[in-house]
Amino acid sequence: MRKFLLYLLGFCIAAFVVLLALTVPARWQIQHITPELPAWEALDAALNVAGGPISLAYVNTASQAMFPGELGHPGILVEWPDGRRFLIDTGMPPENAREFGAPIELLGAGPTATFGSVATQLGPAVDSVRGIAFTHLHSDHTEGLPEICAAQQKAATVYQAPLQQHELNYTTDIGMKALDAAVCPRQGLAEDVVKTIPGFPGLLAVSLGGHTPGSTMYALRVAGKTWIFSGDITNDKRSIVEDLPKQWWYSALVVPEDTDRTALLRRWLRQLDQRNDVSVLPAHDVAAMASAGLASWASE
Ligand SMILES: [Zn+2]
Repeated sequence: MRKFLLYLLGFCIAAFVVLLALTVPARWQIQHITPELPAWEALDAALNVAGGPISLAYVNTASQAMFPGELGHPGILVEWPDGRRFLIDTGMPPENAREFGAPIELLGAGPTATFGSVATQLGPAVDSVRGIAFTHLHSDHTEGLPEICAAQQKAATVYQAPLQQHELNYTTDIGMKALDAAVCPRQGLAEDVVKTIPGFPGLLAVSLGGHTPGSTMYALRVAGKTWIFSGDITNDKRSIVEDLPKQWWYSALVVPEDTDRTALLRRWLRQLDQRNDVSVLPAHDVAAMASAGLASWASE
């Protein structure tokens, strides 16, 4: 018995050391990533361009009942007047979504419902996707990519902010595998605070940090309404409206976040969301997307 307890203690110490070895450098790294945030006036001016997008929809690939709410895995599909489309995040193919959801199910969430990958749901329209970008490089946002690129007659370009290209950690290394496996070429964006995406007028990218070193938000305007996709700075819209942090163990042990930065970002995003005709939408909150008036691709 005493020997067993000693083994158990040894195992716990070893596990703790491994966890420290991973999270301490990652936390040090992310605490030093604090890119400048633009004033509303700068965003507003950059959104007011000719030939901007004309419609958008979400393509949900999977969903899991959580407390509270649902954890959705959508991509955002934006369309320009000439029929070209841009995809923000790619969701996951069904098998990957079930695998991703399994450990969360052990923590008390419901089973994962799958709706087909983005490539499957788009069908022939997959060729209209000419550009792709990610709110961040976690596997639940990137694993739909290889199938999309492979299904296209001419592979779309993946655009990345410099911080997303160059600042990786052990959590984004996993999501990067999908980019490395995909045949889509990659292109870096400029270092500007408000980054434009070549060939997609009116689509803006802003580096955020906080959740991952390369976390990026995207902004666009359709018919006078501004849409801001804030990725995983929060897991739901309510956490922005009510300024709620994630659970401490998530930010400490699951994904090493800079919680001072995510707190600052929540308040900055809330200020944007409180403006007339501006909707800030976290990546996993499909219910908030629907109630903000965003159409579902599946219902079109
Ligand atoms: Zn996520």
